[in-house]
Amino acid sequence: MSSPARDDAELVTYQMHVDGKWVDAVSGERFESHDPFTAKPWSLVPRAGAEDVDRAVQAAQRAFTGGEWPRMHPSQRGALLRRLGDLVAENAERLAHIEVRDNGKLISEMAGQLRYIPQWYYYFGGLADKIEGHVVTTDKAAFTFTRHEPLGVCAAISAWNSPLLLATWKLAPALAAGNTVVLKPSEYTSASALEFARLVEQAGFPPGVVNVVTGFGPECGQALVEHPLVRKVAFTGSDRTGEHIYATAARGLKRVSLELGGKSPNIVFADCNMDDAVKGAVSGIFAATGQTCIAGSRLLVQRQIHDQFVERLVAFARSARMGDPMSTETQVGPVTNLPQYEKVLGYIDVAKGEGVQTVLGGGKAERPECGDGWFVEPTIFTGVRNSMRIAQEEVFGPVLSVIPFDDDEEAVAIGNDVAFGLAAGVWTQDIRRALLMSERLQAGTVWVNTYRAVSYQMPFGGFKRSGLGRENGQDAIKEYLQTKSVWISTASEVPNPFVMR
Ligand code: NDP
Repeated sequence: MSSPARDDAELVTYQMHVDGKWVDAVSGERFESHDPFTAKPWSLVPRAGAEDVDRAVQAAQRAFTGGEWPRMHPSQRGALLRRLGDLVAENAERLAHIEVRDNGKLISEMAGQLRYIPQWYYYFGGLADKIEGHVVTTDKAAFTFTRHEPLGVCAAISAWNSPLLLATWKLAPALAAGNTVVLKPSEYTSASALEFARLVEQAGFPPGVVNVVTGFGPECGQALVEHPLVRKVAFTGSDRTGEHIYATAARGLKRVSLELGGKSPNIVFADCNMDDAVKGAVSGIFAATGQTCIAGSRLLVQRQIHDQFVERLVAFARSARMGDPMSTETQVGPVTNLPQYEKVLGYIDVAKGEGVQTVLGGGKAERPECGDGWFVEPTIFTGVRNSMRIAQEEVFGPVLSVIPFDDDEEAVAIGNDVAFGLAAGVWTQDIRRALLMSERLQAGTVWVNTYRAVSYQMPFGGFKRSGLGRENGQDAIKEYLQTKSVWISTASEVPNPFVMR
């Protein structure tokens, strides 16, 4: 199967993957997915409702309780995951093209991401047969040990900015732990999840172990979170939706992990290596057109280098090549969808209304190389106060707020003075300062002299309104397991039945 070419006039029509079969929505309805570079539809995706979700969850429940999957040795589960990783690697280029078509991220970034995704399946495949309980010493006459068991049907709901990567962060540990999964990708980027389901099938996973339903959050996503057979919801998205999902899941006493938004401080000290810090600031906010939860959207610059740093930053960012995300020459692509494009432009207006100075960009990018796409100029604001909306609310676009600070204390105070706590960057050559900052910044990840590094081996997640639980690393698999305590009596006689032992 090849990836659809941009000049194909015909829309690609997708089906969903439920219980090992390719199906349309029960209603027969579909919706269009757009190419952000052309702003034109390129594919049609089934619009799943509650009945479709019920079918998928029932299939996942059947696969969890009967058939091959629960009887499969964990080493075999691991082998299947590694096979899936191999298939993703073999199809990386094609999947990367589909991702770019659907979400407008750069081919240079997505190709790298798709080549990296198999590592999650290898790593968690390797962990599948290393889920070990332990023998516990108790004060009772009993042989006591713990087992770590899967939860059941897990719902995975993800955002549009890195569709397959974010789905993988949930699927790989959930499956390694022995759960079954119903995945609902973002309505803006469903295609890659459906293409991925073909690889799941090809790898030989039993039917119902991985199901993909596509549709809109308030109908398809909501029905999934509410479904009584779903035991865990793993979600990536905005803090507001995350809060709503948390409340909905609480009614069914379901486990929840939430990877939410951020307003991360990228903190530049006067003793930094300035060339590195300029690149780090640019990568923090303009890579992926700022559409990353870890965007370093608040750039805190020590006052004595503020003007010089901003000048170098603006010069560097101004040279960024915008255009077709399919071109390896392009450095800044379009915004993924129309509502997000309008939201980013709205925040630019909010910031201007708050009295900031615009030192770069500040509006739509209407250059010939941007075609009809949803492009926003890389934008840098100075004169930002941390209390302004532009410094407090997540924009999720290429918009940087520069805030000066005087000393370490003030950097920490400003850095932590937001509702979010996903990530932080620190640029300094002083190891003492690096360690102190990494301790005092309230963020799930602190990078020193680097930005945006992630790995399958390193836990990832948020403090404060940025989320609950951890993805990646050995912590992630624990999110999909529950502990069982087993007691085998070694007493020579049954104790008094009327007294608690
Ligand atoms: P949303 O919160 O709008 O949506 C995320 C997912 O939830 C989508 O699949 C959406 O479906 C679905 N959804 C929406 N409403 C409901 C509901 N009531 N019940 C169940 N599911 C629902 O976020 P975006 O897709 O706009 O993504 C951007 C956000 O994601 C940003 O805030 C960003 O910071 C965050 N993010 C966090 C990351 C992290 O790891 N911390 C990584 C990437 C993004 P639909 O698409 O149909 O609306």
